[in-house]
Amino acid sequence: MSLLSTAIHAVQQAQKACINVQKTLITSVSKEDRSPVTVADFAAQSIVSMILQEYNADISLVGEEDAQLLRENEELKQKVCAVVAHVMPEKTENEILTAIDRGTHEGGSKGTFWVLDPIDGTKGFLRKQQYAIALGLVENGEVTLGILGCPNLPRDLNEPNIDIGSLFFATKGGGSFRWIASGKSTPIYVSQEPFRFCESVEKAHSSHSRAQKIADIVGITDPPIRMDSQCKYALVAQGQAAAYLRLTKGGYVEKIWDHAAGAIIITEAGGMVTDLHGKPLDFSKGRKLSSNKGIIASSGGELHQELVQAYTQTDS
Ligand code: AMP
Ligand code: MG
Repeated sequence: MSLLSTAIHAVQQAQKACINVQKTLITSVSKEDRSPVTVADFAAQSIVSMILQEYNADISLVGEEDAQLLRENEELKQKVCAVVAHVMPEKTENEILTAIDRGTHEGGSKGTFWVLDPIDGTKGFLRKQQYAIALGLVENGEVTLGILGCPNLPRDLNEPNIDIGSLFFATKGGGSFRWIASGKSTPIYVSQEPFRFCESVEKAHSSHSRAQKIADIVGITDPPIRMDSQCKYALVAQGQAAAYLRLTKGGYVEKIWDHAAGAIIITEAGGMVTDLHGKPLDFSKGRKLSSNKGIIASSGGELHQELVQAYTQTDS
């Protein structure tokens, strides 16, 4: 199997585990920063980490989760191991926890590392709405591969009950694709049609009021699509929205796992991704995008410049 096929397989196996958990009882606990985390977050990180390591024993991983909470909570640990066992029954408890803890890599400008958000949009997952398993590969500070597994995303938003569950992938210089079946994928491209934008469901993650002002300036009249997770990047990459605005508040600094996969999937589909000031995202700064603020992603061209300009003309 190639590196790309292995990574796609890893995301698919993690998706299987997440779908199982979402169908049954979801146990959620709070992390130190009070954000929610579920058994599926840990299980998905473990599964992806173990599959990537089977391909290359020396992998480095920047992952959102670590196994600390599981080591302190026996019941939670047993639940996570049971979820992993559905897709990888041969793994021991120790292998499962060690794989989660492999995600502590610091990132940076040198070498090659994977970037994983095992469940991006945990709040969407808990609401049984949209979430994504987001996996990227960074080589010498640059994203060279990205995969977004979007288990609840319909192929067409206008037909929400048909063809649900999508997986997207991109490689640097190789274009962006929607995966259909083993060996079969269809290329995806950005578009300004329909002329609408998407943003977080969570107001705390992005200013809805400022986004509306920006939309008014650039002439987007349709109401925003509010969606959790990097599924928003997928909407822009496949031409279902013209832009994704993430107007972060206060001093919040974005995490690289919230953007690595989505960003390459849009740029390889012909679009553009920058921060709110039009600066390229810099994935070489460690676990956070510390030299950027917020995100503007779009189908590119003049629209992108207009969105950046409109941001400077508005306030929250
Ligand atoms: P979304 O689903 O687009 O709302 O984004 C979910 C991601 O937002 C999570 O993975 C968090 O890492 C991230 N996040 C948490 N707090 C904030 C915040 N205050 N501002 C922006 N993003 C945040
Ligand atoms: Mg996330």
